Amino acid sequence: MHPDTLIAIDGPAGAGKSTLARGLSAHFHYRYVDTGAMYRAVTLACLRRDIDPDDATAIAAMLRNLDLQVTPGTGGQPSQVFLDGEDVTPHLRGPAVNQAVSVVSRHQAVRSFLVARQRALAEGGCMVMDGRDIGTKVLPWAKVKIYVTCSLEERAARRQADLARSGLATGHEHVARELHRRDSLDQGRAIDPLSQAEDAVVIDTTGREAADVLAEAINVCLAKGIVALPGGKEK
Ligand code: C5P
Repeated sequence: MHPDTLIAIDGPAGAGKSTLARGLSAHFHYRYVDTGAMYRAVTLACLRRDIDPDDATAIAAMLRNLDLQVTPGTGGQPSQVFLDGEDVTPHLRGPAVNQAVSVVSRHQAVRSFLVARQRALAEGGCMVMDGRDIGTKVLPWAKVKIYVTCSLEERAARRQADLARSGLATGHEHVARELHRRDSLDQGRAIDPLSQAEDAVVIDTTGREAADVLAEAINVCLAKGIVALPGGKEK
């Protein structure tokens, strides 16, 4: 482990974690892993096999043979997730996965499986990782921990705009309810719930431009001694 070169970012759905994480990855030439995409890929695997998201036993059995691979993003690009060699990244954000993911991610077997993978991905250091439990469970030894917050109102408005850009018109109320439902499940689950690490720096993105939030986070990292790798030298 190289704790001095690990940046952990947590926070609720739609707060701007991945935009910030990709910005930091581009700035410091670090690799980036979106752990939400890994939970989404396990959920997609359940849906494709007709496994009930509540069925812990069937999911644990599925995980024993699941071929899940992750390629970290570099230069501000998202990470990619592969199931049985297929790049499923474009299929992870649909309504069926959104609906089931916080149920699937409650199970101990799922969390143990993915936390081990996430730690292995971070083994070489120089990594930005975002999710819900990175600073508290996955990489509690990370040098920098940032907890990103934002009002529900604005998170819903941003998510609605993203959906509209992808051609999916959805009402504001519906989007807000869906985000709130997922937050409640993520905060209320028994194992590794969404929570702020004691030593995390909180960044509230409400009413702020992404560039402004990134500048603040870069300063937090610099103050903790994070040093940019030479350009294009991501490990
Ligand atoms: O980050 P994203 O919204 O894509 O995450 C989808 C879901 O995956 C979350 O709502 C949560 O249920 C689960 N998740 C988790 N732990 C993480 C990352 C995501 O439980 N580290």
